Amino acid sequence: MQLKRTKIVDIFDPLLVGEKVCVKGWVRTRRGNKHVQFVALNDGSTIKNIQIVIDLQKFDEEFLKPITTGASLHVDGTLVPSQGKGQSVEIQAEEIEIYGTADPEEYPLQKKGHTLEFLREKAHLRMRTNTFGAVFRIRHHLAFAIHKFFNERGFYYLHTPLITASDCEGAGDMFQVTTLNLGDLPKTEDGKTDYSQDFFGKTTSLTVSGQLEGELGATALGAIYTFGPTFRAENSNTPRHLAEFWMIEPEIAFYDINDNMDLAEDFIKFCVKYALEHCKDDLEFLNKMYDETLIERLHSVIKDKFVRLTYTEGIEILKAANKKFEFPVDWGTDLQSEHERYLVEEHFKRPVILTDYPREIKAFYMKQNEDGRTVRAMDVLFPQIGEIIGGSEREADYDKLIAEIERRGIPMKDMWWYLETRKFGTVPHSGFGLGFERLILFVTGMANIRDVIPFPRTPKNAEF
Ligand code: ATP
Ligand code: MN
Repeated sequence: MQLKRTKIVDIFDPLLVGEKVCVKGWVRTRRGNKHVQFVALNDGSTIKNIQIVIDLQKFDEEFLKPITTGASLHVDGTLVPSQGKGQSVEIQAEEIEIYGTADPEEYPLQKKGHTLEFLREKAHLRMRTNTFGAVFRIRHHLAFAIHKFFNERGFYYLHTPLITASDCEGAGDMFQVTTLNLGDLPKTEDGKTDYSQDFFGKTTSLTVSGQLEGELGATALGAIYTFGPTFRAENSNTPRHLAEFWMIEPEIAFYDINDNMDLAEDFIKFCVKYALEHCKDDLEFLNKMYDETLIERLHSVIKDKFVRLTYTEGIEILKAANKKFEFPVDWGTDLQSEHERYLVEEHFKRPVILTDYPREIKAFYMKQNEDGRTVRAMDVLFPQIGEIIGGSEREADYDKLIAEIERRGIPMKDMWWYLETRKFGTVPHSGFGLGFERLILFVTGMANIRDVIPFPRTPKNAEF
């Protein structure tokens, strides 16, 4: 009779000791001597390997030869307490089936520690390493935590479109979507591209944010969140920017900026706590291998109340700082990552929520303050990362919003639907956007955003 497979994550159950078990997975390492061989097998369900003990009296050496790093196996045997150190139990192999081999001359993931840069070139295989297994298991748990957080609070998951005809959000440069033949574009009489012949009959792009549609949801369902891919054609080759990333955007009716800050703080703390509870082995591995202060940092973020201060106060602190910044600071300039990190890591030594930014450096839809020069924006700034969340209370006043749109010369012809949220039953409302990969960067302690998404899209790179 065929034994039922046990995932390796479940094999360390003391009740299984002495039982016949079946495991399947990929060989991480193999070592041993003339009498006995040890194979470390991993199936991706946990960072832990199970040790397979192969008695050479029971198995032919020729048969075992192709069992090298990367080969895939099915092993039946008895789970026994381990003699050696490093593992509590091991499997005495009784039957071995080799599914597939991995020629050591060709398989790139040999035992020796590879650099993250090398592994980025092997992104089709890097999930088989300890590091990327850990990162992508944590990514999964964080995604699950996000849905759990909002679901438990009565938010509805709203699917906003990826293809959009509005190009006024201004959050970043957009990727155009077209089915026109770029080598032979149809022209209008005045020589411009004739988009009426394009698939949608107008110019369309990939979305840079689901917020505007999210506001439609919030002013109907009360509280919604989006969680989906977002695209920005920004040519910024930084360790914190991707051309395709995932964003979470809650939007809530009857919320002011303070409610919004409370939500953002509770939300991030919930996610970090969830990861500490559900990803213990993976976090301990990353803590040991990459950053010995990681777990401590995660605990401190949960414990400390985030500092809240205005942009204007932040600028005062930066100007008084005894530090040379690469980019100068002055009221009215956008903060660079170095400024954000100074406030968080050196000045306050905890996360910071900066509010009331100058109107000119923020988006048109943010609620205008009485002073006429700032808006009710809020950015959440994190250690190692800088900006992790950007949000605001939204301008709910129809006339003020129209005036701001005209002042900025934003093309509004495709935006009539958005404005109707203010025309019909307008309400105070707020929301924010969290870059999912920035949260994963923080939780894993990875330094480069390319290492926390399975297949990164960055300028000049769309491999795999
Ligand atoms: P930044 O100044 O870092 O470019 P932004 O001001 O453009 O960010 P928003 O438009 O407010 O960011 O987007 C909301 C959130 O989305 C940001 O706080 C960040 O977490 C994330 N984000 C923005 N751009 C990117 C990107 N290119 N790659 C990954 N995450 C991003
Ligand atoms: Mn940006």
